[in-house]
Amino acid sequence: MSDAHFGEGPYHLSAQALDNIVTRNCPGTFVLGEHTDDGFHVDYVGRSDTDVNARLHGHVGKYRHFRFDYTTDAEAAFAEECSLYHDYQPEHNTAHPSPPLGFAWSCPRCLPKRSPPA
Ligand SMILES: [Zn+2]
Repeated sequence: MSDAHFGEGPYHLSAQALDNIVTRNCPGTFVLGEHTDDGFHVDYVGRSDTDVNARLHGHVGKYRHFRFDYTTDAEAAFAEECSLYHDYQPEHNTAHPSPPLGFAWSCPRCLPKRSPPA
């Protein structure tokens, strides 16, 4: 899929940029990687169930650029992270996203494959 339409950005990943740009303390998703003339190469996708700004701060220094999107709640963040994971298959994500501890949400993209054949 084209990565031109996910969220806002690309922006340089720095503490200052995060605090200037990601100003709402709410759930959200993000992609991290390198933006070039050819587009955004996604190395990693992630989310925060509570505060996407804080989560992004943890990645400062590890990646050059980010795009991000706020979500209405943690469940939406999980679903969107799953979609990003399937779209980009990022090299640095070693495992499929998991729902928060204690929640049994299913990945919207994996679910159809698990259905028994008709
Ligand atoms: Zn999945």
